[in-house]
Amino acid sequence: MIVMGVESSCDETGVGIVRWNDDGTTTLLADEVASSVDEHARYGGVVPEVASRAHLEAIVPTMRRARAAAGIDRPDAVAVTIGPGLAGALLVGVAAAKAYAAAWDLPFYAVNHLGGHVAVDTLEHGPMPPCVALLVSGGHTHLLSVPDLGAPIVELGTTVDDAAGEAFDKVARLLGLGFPGGPALDVAAAQGDPTAIAFPRGMTGPRDARHDFSFSGLKTAVARHVERCEREGVPVNVADVAASFQEAVADVLTMKAVRACGDTGVDTLVLGGGATANSRIRALAEERCAAADITLRVPRPRLCTDNGVMIATLAAHLIAAGAPPSELTVATDPGMSVQVSSY
Ligand code: ATP
Ligand code: MG
Ligand code: FE
Repeated sequence: MIVMGVESSCDETGVGIVRWNDDGTTTLLADEVASSVDEHARYGGVVPEVASRAHLEAIVPTMRRARAAAGIDRPDAVAVTIGPGLAGALLVGVAAAKAYAAAWDLPFYAVNHLGGHVAVDTLEHGPMPPCVALLVSGGHTHLLSVPDLGAPIVELGTTVDDAAGEAFDKVARLLGLGFPGGPALDVAAAQGDPTAIAFPRGMTGPRDARHDFSFSGLKTAVARHVERCEREGVPVNVADVAASFQEAVADVLTMKAVRACGDTGVDTLVLGGGATANSRIRALAEERCAAADITLRVPRPRLCTDNGVMIATLAAHLIAAGAPPSELTVATDPGMSVQVSSY
């Protein structure tokens, strides 16, 4: 069975094609992504209207490229991200996927973007045991309990304010590192001392929810530090601030992820989302998982950011588990809950 997945929830237009094999593995046949990230750089963040227009321009050519790369005329099923995401951006991918499904008379699957970030790991690492997933991107920070990819996911915790990737972008901007700032901040941090400044670890107190996150206090603490330097006429040590900030984020994320594995009694942790490209988050996750006897699964960076392959992979698991196709009349769900795998 060959599944085509379409993704347009944020600033990436993605079309991926995978083959579901009878042994429960999936094979990647095509992975085409057109990103509008450069168009957002001058605004310092993703502009929804700009993203929607870029999707409109990119969707059909990206679809064509994916089918050519996979060497297929048409798949056996069409899947699309129905939510969560930017309302206008989602509409473009959903309209296109519905049109193809209708024209080709194929089953249509409207699936959850967040489940896709977890499912994509099976491409590289095979069938997934019950696990905890830590998703960190520009729009999301979630700790999830995933008993089975064909079944609903349970949310253990999420951010109460900023997403982790968003915090990276805002702090990078404050330090004059450009947008998207995450990768630049990672590079700057490599030259700095992660213990130079004791930035706060949000929501790690005894009375805080065990699995929720907060990054806005950390972001404010960085801003205060920069302001104080300016007031006192001391130059800001960008590398030290970047390293200390990155250490605080990586510390909280990995500490809570390992704790969630213990609380749910699983020994596998899956990372996903664009911010897991961060070198310190990866290194600390490896270190702490090794110490706690937890198997760490991290897809390669290209599959951690938004793409169509993850949507095709999740749909393949749902189809194999017997999920019924979605109606072609289903509406986009910008605020979709992670608990729902598909409509
Ligand atoms: P969504 O939230 O819907 O998944 P998105 O476009 O915000 O969409 P991704 O494309 O998955 O998310 O990831 C982009 C985010 O990852 C940005 O916030 C970016 O700064 C961050 N990021 C990427 N590389 C790194 C890195 N090395 N260190 C820290 N953050 C990074
Ligand atoms: Mg993106
Ligand atoms: Fe995403």
